[in-house]
Amino acid sequence: MSARPTQSMINHDAGATPVSALAGVGPALAESLKRLGLERVQDLWFHLPLRYEDKTHVTALADLRPGERVQVEGVVEAVESGFRYRPQLKVAIGDNVGHTLLLRFFHFRRAQTEQLRPGTRLLCYGEVRMGAQGLEMVHPQYQRVTEDAPITVEERLSPIYPTTDGLGQKRLAGVIGKALALLPPSAELELIPPELCAEHGLSSLREALLYVHRPPADAHLGQLTLGRHPTQQRLAFEELLTQHLSLKRMRAAVRRRHAPVLGGDGQLRQRLRDGLPFQLTAAQQKVSGEVAADLVQPKPMLRLVQGDVGSGKTVVAALAALAALEAGRQVALMAPTELLAEQHLRNFRHWFEPLGIEVEWLAGKVQGKARQKALQRVADGAPIVIGTHALMQEGVSFTRLGLVIVDEQHRFGVHQRLALRDKGLEGEQVPHQLVLTATPIPRTLAMSAYADLDVSSIDELPPGRTPVQTIAISNGRRHEVIERIHVACREGRQVYWVCTLIEESEQLRAQAAEVAHAELSAALAGFRVGLIHGRMKPKEKQAVMDAFKAGELAVLVATTVIEVGVDVPNASLMVIENSERLGLAQLHQLRGRVGRGAIASNCVLLYQPPLGQLARERLQVMRETNDGFRIAEKDLELRGPGEVLGTRQTGQLSFRIADLEAARETCGAIDRALGRWRRPLCARLGARYRWLLREGLPCSMLTSRSKLAGLLPKSRIL
Ligand code: ADP
Ligand code: MG
Repeated sequence: MSARPTQSMINHDAGATPVSALAGVGPALAESLKRLGLERVQDLWFHLPLRYEDKTHVTALADLRPGERVQVEGVVEAVESGFRYRPQLKVAIGDNVGHTLLLRFFHFRRAQTEQLRPGTRLLCYGEVRMGAQGLEMVHPQYQRVTEDAPITVEERLSPIYPTTDGLGQKRLAGVIGKALALLPPSAELELIPPELCAEHGLSSLREALLYVHRPPADAHLGQLTLGRHPTQQRLAFEELLTQHLSLKRMRAAVRRRHAPVLGGDGQLRQRLRDGLPFQLTAAQQKVSGEVAADLVQPKPMLRLVQGDVGSGKTVVAALAALAALEAGRQVALMAPTELLAEQHLRNFRHWFEPLGIEVEWLAGKVQGKARQKALQRVADGAPIVIGTHALMQEGVSFTRLGLVIVDEQHRFGVHQRLALRDKGLEGEQVPHQLVLTATPIPRTLAMSAYADLDVSSIDELPPGRTPVQTIAISNGRRHEVIERIHVACREGRQVYWVCTLIEESEQLRAQAAEVAHAELSAALAGFRVGLIHGRMKPKEKQAVMDAFKAGELAVLVATTVIEVGVDVPNASLMVIENSERLGLAQLHQLRGRVGRGAIASNCVLLYQPPLGQLARERLQVMRETNDGFRIAEKDLELRGPGEVLGTRQTGQLSFRIADLEAARETCGAIDRALGRWRRPLCARLGARYRWLLREGLPCSMLTSRSKLAGLLPKSRIL
């Protein structure tokens, strides 16, 4: 172990230097970096590219194939700026021997039209698509080629980093380059014992970091994109290990606390059951039993109830709440959005008022006097209060909080759950916690992913549901799909169009959705098309959702913000663009937005050929089944647990550990071998994790943009 750093070296190494010490990083840039959670030089080392662009060569127009992202060169042959429902700029470029490519812009400035005159030579980069008029690129990057500015190709693959508004890729890459120049020699950087690195075939950390930030021109782009390069696996290993160690410590800390024993006489629960218009499914009974058994223990329950959309988690939560009420304790139920919280409020009032129990409501909307009164009633011991994160705010205090119920776990971080739990602190006692999630993951995996929680599964749907019919269609037949939407609209059905482009900033994702919105508005004359994305204010989002709910919008173009909890029964067709890029869990979650009413529903998975083997299998699974648990098992089988735990949006990060038991053993062995290096290891990625948590992003650097947040633990570095 002599080659490893001493504690003092770690504390004083280059990594801990603030970013502002780097040449060229002034206060404004430092502020932008801080927004990305990048405060120290080592944070920059671990700010990994989201994807890469290959601008190391130019592809001839004759060789273009739909679905590829390439750099091309051509001379402008024709320009047409038109206005068909939306302004549009079309620029045809050609290679003088008859091959052409259409560049299409929905957002453009006047100056651009003038710049792109016929005869201008352009170098463009973008994704080739098959459009109605042949091959095209929508919103390509482009630059003019002149005698003064001839074509230069890049020497390396260009990394594209997650970024924030106002901080361009070039600038960010520049700062990261400066940070990399400060990477210490391997012996100082490495915190995983060399014998373990050798045993697991891990490349050196230094080598791995340098490679992923600056892949050579001949690097395997496909492998890098899929997260399969050995250097990426090295980084994934470090990350998963850190995550595991942190969660383990957290779990141990929580288990040391005490909780009130909630063993009532069961009368309220019996009355609720008797009043229900249905019988509980066997799965609901089993899970209710597991929860009840936890609640009579003097230590805090930390239980995750996972069940597919519509599996009936709410009634299980209601029964748990009644157990607490029977024991004279308060209950708080927290949902991530006002929409979801209101849904719960309606349900609980409907069930509890006949039992003589009043349900308190506390959301951001509740203001002024009403809020004061609600707060007072809660402080005076109102039996149950439902709300959003407003429940965790200052000024909210409980008297005898015995149970906290949190819906849709992955929208809250662990720290938020803990904040609510801590409101119930009475001496050494903490309330029990019940967490509900609709993102099922296989049991074994869940135990590891949510290391601080026990897991129950409602693995059965109430009888009488109609499954959603799913088909996969190539993007080459996009116009047919749009025609199908037209037909559905004429029949009075409502449609979701989900854009899933992986873009490096919220701004670009929003723009991609705007482009799809423009395209559909133009194609669906006479129907209103709405747009919702993450850059909109909550109020604006709510207004769009309300309009869609009220049937005023026929089509809703959305980014994946609609993943959770949105309930519009009349929406019966869902189109998911670039579905090949999503993991199974997310596809399933999205599809759950339709099939909620009486009408038979359809889901169209639009994909960009050529399909890789994994993508093909995933789409196949989606066509075959609607069962969330089967899908989750399949997901595990296709990708392996490392991938499910550490998945990027493409769902293909390949960190293959043979099985979870082995993974746990490995982590255990490393844990022991690490000894006193454990703390520095956790600390190194700590800042990174805290930022990801704040942003509500999964704790995976390789996956920092992942939408599969539900699969990933929100750990807290202790
Ligand atoms: P989720 O698990 O998605 O939160 P909900 O709890 O909202 O599901 O339940 C979905 C619908 O199914 C609700 O209308 C609920 O009343 C109903 N439901 C729940 N359990 C049963 C059951 N055992 N039999 C029939 N319907 C049920
Ligand atoms: Mg629910």
